[in-house]
Amino acid sequence: MAQLDKAVKINKTKKLHDLAERLRQPERDIRISIPVQMDNGAIKIFEGYRVQYNNALGPYKGGIRYHPLTEINEVKALAFWMTLKCAVAGIPMGGGKGGITVEPKDLSKGELERLSRGWVRALSDVLSPHKDVPAPDVNTTPEIMAWMADEYAKISGDNTEASFTGKPTDQGGSEGRNTSTAQGGFYGFEAFRKELNLPEKCTVVIQGFGNVGSHAASIWHKAGHKVIAVSDSRGGIYDENGLNIEKLLEHKKKTGALANFPDSKKITNQELLALKCDLLIPSAFENEINKENADKIKAKVILELANGPTSPEADEILFKRGIPVLPDIWANSGGVIVSYFEWDQNLKRGHWTEEEIFKKLKLMIEDSAKQILEKSKESNTSLRMGAFILALERIQEKLK
Ligand code: NAD
Repeated sequence: MAQLDKAVKINKTKKLHDLAERLRQPERDIRISIPVQMDNGAIKIFEGYRVQYNNALGPYKGGIRYHPLTEINEVKALAFWMTLKCAVAGIPMGGGKGGITVEPKDLSKGELERLSRGWVRALSDVLSPHKDVPAPDVNTTPEIMAWMADEYAKISGDNTEASFTGKPTDQGGSEGRNTSTAQGGFYGFEAFRKELNLPEKCTVVIQGFGNVGSHAASIWHKAGHKVIAVSDSRGGIYDENGLNIEKLLEHKKKTGALANFPDSKKITNQELLALKCDLLIPSAFENEINKENADKIKAKVILELANGPTSPEADEILFKRGIPVLPDIWANSGGVIVSYFEWDQNLKRGHWTEEEIFKKLKLMIEDSAKQILEKSKESNTSLRMGAFILALERIQEKLK
């Protein structure tokens, strides 16, 4: 909301002011209880959510997060960002988000499947390819999306497969979906690299080594950039000469951890954020860059692949220090763009190649990059505010 207030202050038109008032609350937020039969025979109740924030541009779209700290306010914030993200990306989708308060690592595969199917059963009335199309987020996988799509098909009789995106490719999933967020972020970085005076080969630091962070590490490494540090929830590793990401992925698969990778030094997540580098890519969780550490950031540019990694206070500090932030609602939109491609392919019963997918993705990211830059220059503001104004104008246009 602080970000929204700021955007409205910069763009003083009454229309955007009125729209901002509408966007202060979601159109609908739903809390559900999901009873799950555990392997020991006992019934356990989990709390789940779906927030349908705004559908001016099309069906609600957004991932489902499984995490012990997930709660309704987090889901609302994420659903709000999805509304803007779809608008910035220029896709005919609105914003939504879902979740379950759960530590998925504590569940067996069978319990996880029953929980996921339970989420769909409780919400089936408000879902459908033309109403609300969920996707994966933190800790939700293509397999979980396949269970959910199957449950929805059984309940509704809808066999288009377009009810959920992020499915495995042999069950209606799109080519490229798994790597799309990181790939889209890379196209975005390339689109801005010269404008931001970054060298052709950059030193890169990545926080978070899950789906988004590990793919980002591979993509930047393969493109010849030097990934000097990465981290996960247990801490990070650093090698000023550059980490060999292919070998690191093998090491993590074998040992289950980043630690003890040959030639690397162990560092904490706070040390990682303060490393000198050309590009810092937060790919973990919200508010990792905040008023406590924003002064210590030594990166030339930040590319937000996580959602909300920079707190509003930190954003101000970075703007004053002249460190450009390529904002999440645009930088990580590759995932939702390819999700939209998946939905479109399912409805048309088509299947595009990975080459076609990435070609279209690149064009869309480049197009929105140009418009964000224009908006931020017009109002002499940050790229984040440029993206916000672009998104708000697009939603307003549709509401006329
Ligand atoms: P994930 O669960 O696969 O990975 C999260 C990673 O962050 C893990 O490696 C975890 O160990 C690490 N982590 C957790 N706390 C940390 C901390 N304090 N410091 C460093 N690392 C920490 O999740 P993901 O799908 O890669 O999503 C990561 C971020 O990207 C989230 O903000 C998510 O909302 C956003 N995002 C994801 C997608 C997608 O397609 N998966 C799309 C858009 C945005």
